[in-house]
Amino acid sequence: MMTVQGKKYMSDFEAKKAILDIGRRMYDKGFVASNDGNISCKVGPNTIWTTPTGVSKGFMTQDMLVKMDLNGKVLMGRWKPSSEVKMHLRVYKENPDVQAVTHAHPLVATSFAIAGISLDAAVLTEAVLGLGSIPVAKYATPGTDEVPDSIAPFVNTHNGVLLANHGALTWGKDIYQAFYRLESIEYYATILMYTGNIIGRQNLLSCDQVNKLLDIRHKLGITAGGIPPCAIEETNMRDVVSAADARPAETAAPVLKGVTSIVRPGENLAPTGCGCTGVTRQVLPAEEVKPVQAEALGKAKEEIIAEVVRRVTEQLN
Ligand SMILES: [Zn+2]
Repeated sequence: MMTVQGKKYMSDFEAKKAILDIGRRMYDKGFVASNDGNISCKVGPNTIWTTPTGVSKGFMTQDMLVKMDLNGKVLMGRWKPSSEVKMHLRVYKENPDVQAVTHAHPLVATSFAIAGISLDAAVLTEAVLGLGSIPVAKYATPGTDEVPDSIAPFVNTHNGVLLANHGALTWGKDIYQAFYRLESIEYYATILMYTGNIIGRQNLLSCDQVNKLLDIRHKLGITAGGIPPCAIEETNMRDVVSAADARPAETAAPVLKGVTSIVRPGENLAPTGCGCTGVTRQVLPAEEVKPVQAEALGKAKEEIIAEVVRRVTEQLN
């Protein structure tokens, strides 16, 4: 590390090493395909190291990296920087406290970006603490000045943004925070997909619970992040146990340990009528058992016995 004008920056060596490390992690986690994604890190008030275009971020070497000033002038390196570095430069210009920027196309977060759905529900404590809400910046053609313009409104108020029909962009006080935010965005998006679209149910944190998390966020020195919508009433302040466990002991039907009974003893199985091809057990309703038949059967039996007795008596006589 080195200090310039009272601010700490990574040295050239540290920044290049960290960019290669983050590039490998980004690639290994499947956040990028082919040559996608880009990373940059400040090494002074007006200089950054960044990734080259046309190279997989999992296979970079130090000689491929490019040093630039914040106006986009290449200062060092033989490779061409990514055209997407424009959005990195805009983040640094808008918010001088940012020290690093990461960009990738993680599967779930990018799917939300394609659907135009922001990551904005108070469902996960860590996401409220570390991210807040993640908006979707309007669509912009990659490589053009439209991209930096689309993200500029969020750079001082949020910790990252989804790029419509494109991917995710994060920034931080150092390169690791920027990358961890990228990881957290993908994790948050995955949780929202599972709960919202697969399980189909989300118990939102209440506004009281969110307020307590915001106090902690403030104490952690995180001043941006947005506040996701919360529930007025608490929805999660009760223990959730199974129906069998909840029944009072005296009325509970015997349940085998470790087994969840589907049909409890004493319960009649109604005809399913589901039209399915499996075997179904049918129990006739009590009124369909005809006592008349039983009576007739008893009478017939008595008559047979009487007839046998009569014939045996005849023989004996
Ligand atoms: Zn991209």
